[in-house]
Amino acid sequence: MMKSERTNSPQSLKEHSKKWGREYKGNLAVNLGYSFHWHNRYDEIEKALFDMADNHCSFCDIRPLKASGATIEHFRPKKTFPLLAYVWANLFYACSNCQKKGKRFDPTCKPLKPDQFNYSFNYYFIFIETVEEILLKPNPARSPEEQKRADETIKLYGLNKFARPEARKAELEDYREDVKLGKNKNKKYYSYRFILE
Ligand SMILES: [Zn+2]
Repeated sequence: MMKSERTNSPQSLKEHSKKWGREYKGNLAVNLGYSFHWHNRYDEIEKALFDMADNHCSFCDIRPLKASGATIEHFRPKKTFPLLAYVWANLFYACSNCQKKGKRFDPTCKPLKPDQFNYSFNYYFIFIETVEEILLKPNPARSPEEQKRADETIKLYGLNKFARPEARKAELEDYREDVKLGKNKNKKYYSYRFILE
């Protein structure tokens, strides 16, 4: 998970996020199965998140994301935190696997948020490279509480699942090969930027 710099909110959310959140909460109170919708602003919001993340998943960092039309992740799940459903700071661009997190979110475990003040991959995580894969682990140099937060983030977004350890290894091998041949692109064009040396 790379550090994200939060950009300016799309105008529609600036104007309507509180009202839309209250309405959504009210509708859920009457009908738990109430369907969430984006008030026809999905494209605008997705584009702003795409730009902020530079087409990387905000959590696993894969790039580019498949155009699935479902790339907006609520960091605090919308059904549990309906008032945050349209709050810009709660929204991230994310791949379908990272979105499998669904309703799981325990505030007491304090999962790491990519745009949080002073977040960095190297502070919270280390990676372990073998011949086959690259696993992410909490940084053992950190406090027990910080390691717990890193561990919770790995579990919440399945950062060592979905064949990601193997995919990271393959990406690093490709990157090293490109460097060797002098063909390496800007790092922003690779997935899993946090493992590139
Ligand atoms: Zn992802």
